[in-house]
Amino acid sequence: MIEKRHFYINGEWVLPTVANDLAVINPATEEAIATISMGSEADVDKAVAAAKLAFDGYASTSHAERLALLEKTLAVFKSRQDDISEAIMLELGAPKKLAYGAQSGAGSYHLEGFIEAFKNMPLEQRLGNGDLLVREPIGVCGLITPWNWPINQVVLKVAAALAAGCTVVLKPSEITPLNALVYAEIMNEVGFPAGVFNLVNGDGPNVGAAISKHSDVDMMSFTGSTRGGVAVTKDAADTVKKVTLELGGKSPNIVFADCDVEKRVTAGVRHVFQNTGQSCNAPTRMLIEESIYEQAVEIARQTAESQLVAEPQLDGRHIGPLVSQMQFDKVQALIQAGIDEGAELIAGGIGRPDGISAGYFVKPTVFANANNGMRIAQEEIFGPVLTMISFKDEAEAIRIANDTEYGLAAQVQTGDPERAKRVALQLRAGMVHVNGVDMSAGSPFGGYKKSGVGREGGALGIEDFMEVKLISGV
Ligand code: NAD
Repeated sequence: MIEKRHFYINGEWVLPTVANDLAVINPATEEAIATISMGSEADVDKAVAAAKLAFDGYASTSHAERLALLEKTLAVFKSRQDDISEAIMLELGAPKKLAYGAQSGAGSYHLEGFIEAFKNMPLEQRLGNGDLLVREPIGVCGLITPWNWPINQVVLKVAAALAAGCTVVLKPSEITPLNALVYAEIMNEVGFPAGVFNLVNGDGPNVGAAISKHSDVDMMSFTGSTRGGVAVTKDAADTVKKVTLELGGKSPNIVFADCDVEKRVTAGVRHVFQNTGQSCNAPTRMLIEESIYEQAVEIARQTAESQLVAEPQLDGRHIGPLVSQMQFDKVQALIQAGIDEGAELIAGGIGRPDGISAGYFVKPTVFANANNGMRIAQEEIFGPVLTMISFKDEAEAIRIANDTEYGLAAQVQTGDPERAKRVALQLRAGMVHVNGVDMSAGSPFGGYKKSGVGREGGALGIEDFMEVKLISGV
C-alpha cells in the first residue's frame, strides 16, 4: 500500500492538521492502492498564508528567472514522467499506452507550449495612444483540478500561474491524487522559493470550498463539472475573485456526405471511446447527413464491436475501466435512459463487457436514430457512449450542433474547405477541428456557454493569471 499522507506547504512536506485518511482505489480491481489525507480549512489557511507570504518576492522575479524555472520544470518533469504515467495507470485505470503516451505526455507538451509562449510574451506594451500597458501577476491563485486528464490539468494551471508570477494552492482531484503528488516532488526538486507552490489534498465541499471562499485568494481556476464550477463561482463571489472555468461538453461532430466517410466516422467513434469516454471535448454527438446515415451507422457499429476493453497494464489500443463506482453507475443510468427514450442501441449496452467480472469496465456503446432532445444527446455521459443523429442540410446541422447548453469543442468532416470554414464560423464552440486536424501546442483550450470561462494553454493561458495595469504619463 502506498502511503502519501503529507501535503506540500511552504516548501515542506507536512501532515494534515487533523488526521483524515482516504483510500485511493484502483478502478480496474476496485481495490485500495494508496492512502492519502483529506485536508480541512485549517490546512487551506496554512497553504494560503504561505502563498501570500511568498507572493511579493516571487512576483518581482524577472522574466528571465521565471523562464529558467519553467525550463528546469520541464527537464525534471521529463526525468519523472514514468512515475507520473505509472500513477495515472493505477489510479485512473488509463491503459499503459495512453498513460505513458498522451496522458503524461500532456504535461511536457504544455510545459513546452508555455515556455515558447512566455519567451515571446512582452510584459510591457506601449499603446498607439502613448499609454503604457503592463501585465502583472494577479496574486494568490486557487487551482482545482479533475481526475480525467489529471496531469494535463495540473500543468495547464500551475505552469501558467507560475509563469505569470503568481503563487498557488493546488487541490487536485481526491480520486487521482498520486500523479499530482509526484508533480509536487518535481516542484520541490526544481527549487521554487518556499510558498510559491503548495498542494493540499481533499474533497470539493471542504477543501475546494475553503480555497474558493478564502479572502486572501485572488483568483480561482477550476476544471471539472459544470455543477462544481457554479459552486466555485458562488463561493468566490463574496470576495470578488476572478474565476476561470473549464467545464463539461457535449461536442457535435458534423459528418457531411462529401468527406471520407469510412475514415472520418471511424476516427470519430474512436475519439469518443478514447480515455473510456472521459474527455470533456469528446465528440459524443455525431450528426450525419441523411444520404450517408445508414453507412455511418454500420461503420460505427463495426468500430464499437471491434473496440477491445481490457486491463490497464496490458499493451495495446484497448480502453480501460471508468474511474469510479459513481461514474460506472452514472454511465449505466444514462445508457438505460437512451434505451427508455427509444434510441436504437446498435452496440454495447448495460453491464460489463463479456468475461469481465470486476472493475468499473463498461461496454463501448452506440445509439442510432436518436434525436437532439434526448438525455443522451443533451447530458454529458462521460463514458464510451456515442449518440448518432441525422440531418437534412447544412443549416439543420448547424442548428442541431448549437442546440446544447455546452460549447466546448466541435468537429466538422467535409471535403469542401469553403464549407468547412463557413460552418466552423457559425458554431458556438471554443474549438472547431476540421477533418480531425488537432490543435497545436500553445493554442487556447476552452469553451463557450456552460463549458466555461477563460482559456488554458499558451499565451492566453498565462494572460488569464495576470492583471492589466495602465500607466499614463510615463
Ligand atoms: P467535479 O466537478 O466533481 O470535480 C472536479 C474537481 O472539483 C475535484 O478536484 C473536486 O474535488 C472539486 N470540487 C467538486 N465540488 C467542488 C466544490 N463544490 N467546490 C470546490 N471544488 C469542488 O468533476 P470531475 O468529476 O472530477 O471531472 C469531470 C468533469 O470535468 C467533467 O464534467 C468534464 O467535462 C470536466 N472537465 C472539463 C475540462 C475542460 O477543460 N473543459 C477538462 C477536463 C474535465
